[in-house]
Amino acid sequence: MTKEEMKKKLEVSKLAIFGGSPAFPEKLHVGRPNIGDREVLVRRLNEALDRKWLTNRGPLVQEFERTIARYTGVKHCIAMCNGTIALEIAIRALGLKGEVIVPSFTFIATAHALQWQEITPVFCDVRTSDFTLDPSRIEELITPRTTGIVGVHLWGRPCDILHIEQIARKRNLKILYDAAHSFGCSYNGRMIGCFGDAEVFSFHGTKFLNSLEGGAVVTNDDDLAKKIRLMKNFGFDGYDTVIYIGTNGKMNEFSAATGLTNFEAIDQFVEVNRRNYHVYKRELAGIPGVHFVEYNEREKCNYQYIVIIIDETKTGLDCNSLVKIFHAENVLVRRYFYPGCHQMEPYRSFFPHAKMLLPNTERYSPRVMSLPTGTSVQPEQIVAMTSLLKYLLRNADSIKSTLKKA
Ligand SMILES: *Cc1c(COP(=O)(O)O)cnc(C)c1O
Repeated sequence: MTKEEMKKKLEVSKLAIFGGSPAFPEKLHVGRPNIGDREVLVRRLNEALDRKWLTNRGPLVQEFERTIARYTGVKHCIAMCNGTIALEIAIRALGLKGEVIVPSFTFIATAHALQWQEITPVFCDVRTSDFTLDPSRIEELITPRTTGIVGVHLWGRPCDILHIEQIARKRNLKILYDAAHSFGCSYNGRMIGCFGDAEVFSFHGTKFLNSLEGGAVVTNDDDLAKKIRLMKNFGFDGYDTVIYIGTNGKMNEFSAATGLTNFEAIDQFVEVNRRNYHVYKRELAGIPGVHFVEYNEREKCNYQYIVIIIDETKTGLDCNSLVKIFHAENVLVRRYFYPGCHQMEPYRSFFPHAKMLLPNTERYSPRVMSLPTGTSVQPEQIVAMTSLLKYLLRNADSIKSTLKKA
């Protein structure tokens, strides 16, 4: 929809949520896959088929691992079938047990990867500057059972690595970073991937770099890397020898082919995402009650997540209503991450009072909205989406009363 068409939609009753036709004929998504050169991909797939080597550390997986390791400046990359298994294996290989400190303001897999192996996630609040772990709230959560910290580089914004590492060193804790959002981002000029005891990437279809499904553990620790390699392949060390407990975390050749091909296009993906980010930033500037979460552009960024925070007291419409209205208009904004892991099962039942210690998570997670971007989203569409948002907020009172009647 163009700005002109937007103007025609002057009456609130013509909004799709009230029965009008959607402003956008086709759905706009958050996290549509970024796809590289198809011909190159098909060639790689054919080569894999010709080789008849489809999994078990084939040449494409090995090449993908070398590529990721080189790019992130880390010694070891162990590619896996997805980010969740990569987290689970990294947690186990690091010897985490008992309690582990982790934000609640994250995708549920971060907490599940711990609880799945009977490790208690101890939810820590986030700071409001970037919604990553608040280092000043970590130490109060440490008990004799605490073995580690899992930080999350939320929306491609690195955690306060410096302070987290100071605490971990002082208290003798392991550090793992969930870097699922942060492939291609840097912290103090060094690529995310080389920090902590290990970091985990996800290459899921919605992520900046995708291998269909996929993930990886990256680490500079030789022994840890060796252990993880065994663990992701049932503990096999040679044909008939198992020397470790393990599971099946292997990446397959088709995923590696996709990951390698997409990797070759990441500069283009960043360029498109960066362009989109700046259009959003320009169009959303100065709207009362709409806080645009910025990237630190002195660092490398993947610009994969466009996030706004809605202050209902100033916008007149709450995030939940806006999400419903946008969905009706075919703008599939997402609530990353609402309501926070501590509000979901089993954690909600395990820790009914967790929210007492999570004021920022409680306050901000109901207000976050991720907006569509990526290689499928054009600047004109962004202008139209943001015009729609501005229209909604200008007419907040009348929309709210119509919503109440509906
Ligand atoms: C996507 C994601 C994961 C899980 O990765 P998968 O590859 O989908 O298993 C874990 N943590 C965060 C923060 C994520 O966004």
